[in-house]
Amino acid sequence: MKRIYADWAATAPLSQEAALAMEAFSGPENITVNANANSLHTEGRRAFAAMEDARSAIARSTGARPDEVIFTSGATEADNAAIFGIVGAAAQTVRQRGQADFVPHLIVSSIEHDAVLQPAHRLESEGVEVTYVEPDRRGIVSPASIESALQPNTVLVSIMLANNEVGSIQPVAEIAKVVHAAGALMHTDAVQAFGKMSVGLDASGVDALSISAHKIGGPKGIGALVLKSGTPFLPVLLGGGQEHGLRSGTQNVAGMVGFAAAATAATGEGLNEEVNRQRNLRDMLYEGLCAFEGVQCSVPCESGSKDFLPNIVSVNVAGLESETLILRFDREGVALAGGSACSSHSLEPSRVLKQIGIDRDRALCTLRISIGRSTTEEDVHGILAAFERVLSWQR
Ligand code: PLP
Repeated sequence: MKRIYADWAATAPLSQEAALAMEAFSGPENITVNANANSLHTEGRRAFAAMEDARSAIARSTGARPDEVIFTSGATEADNAAIFGIVGAAAQTVRQRGQADFVPHLIVSSIEHDAVLQPAHRLESEGVEVTYVEPDRRGIVSPASIESALQPNTVLVSIMLANNEVGSIQPVAEIAKVVHAAGALMHTDAVQAFGKMSVGLDASGVDALSISAHKIGGPKGIGALVLKSGTPFLPVLLGGGQEHGLRSGTQNVAGMVGFAAAATAATGEGLNEEVNRQRNLRDMLYEGLCAFEGVQCSVPCESGSKDFLPNIVSVNVAGLESETLILRFDREGVALAGGSACSSHSLEPSRVLKQIGIDRDRALCTLRISIGRSTTEEDVHGILAAFERVLSWQR
């Protein structure tokens, strides 16, 4: 049986472009190009040149300048660095001005990934004021709700560009305007949006954005924080001073090269066509799944809607828990997820689904299907046929 992979939001298969690009940087026979990019010898300089090419490619694909790209070990690190680094720098500046009693204020949405929420909780436990803004029923955070949460001491607002569980796209450019008007800085976790819509530091007006290679066909363990030049930032990882002193640690050049190749392929000329293709598949999936009795869409994603990512489908199935659904689908040859891969070992319903008003019983019965570049119409028919078999197990 041909297996169907429908868990691209958890991770995308390594793309051919990334695999080929990295081949030259892996294996003992390639030691001459796999040197430390900070070494002065010929091999080191070659590695440095490859790293800088990769940096330029990531800059091009995010509307930034090469010196605004800080490579990290992934988006978890990029998100942590953004929250701790920007809030930390703001607090330090104010303290240096002698305002010892200043309490920084951070705003995040309640549907952020844990890579943003956990740092926010940590800061809160250390005395930073944190406001958690709730989304509407569609999983969308309004600029008005951010405006009313802003305070004179707000230093940073972090709102994800697209949600990883239900695919809702946030009006980040509009939010950034409101945030800047209040004198605060804006970060966006663009992990799920990158490669599925245009993501630009300039276009979205944010000061910082996080991306990850493995969500777009690059290798795992590499990502970037794209930080607008001049943004006050207190590095979290201290050491050898790599990445312009903003993120120490010997650089993963092979990973960067693979990341750059994947990013170029995923965000290049064909982006719009590929997005339209995936959106059609998404609509077919929603239509096909919701035609089954007891199946409800988690969000009101109408056919053709651009308010939701083109590659994420979230439904809940009355009376069938996520774990049961995942295992049955697996037996039927389809790999997919429940609420979100990151919390799949938890028996608690996803907090994102709770936040958008889905009751506990329904939330526990949620299925996330996420598609990608190699998903075909035939795969969509295969998923729907498998779903019919999955449901007949019960009856
Ligand atoms: N942010 C979002 C929205 C994600 O979906 C993920 C991955 O699941 C992350 C951050 C963390 O990314 P990484 O796996 O690169 O650490």
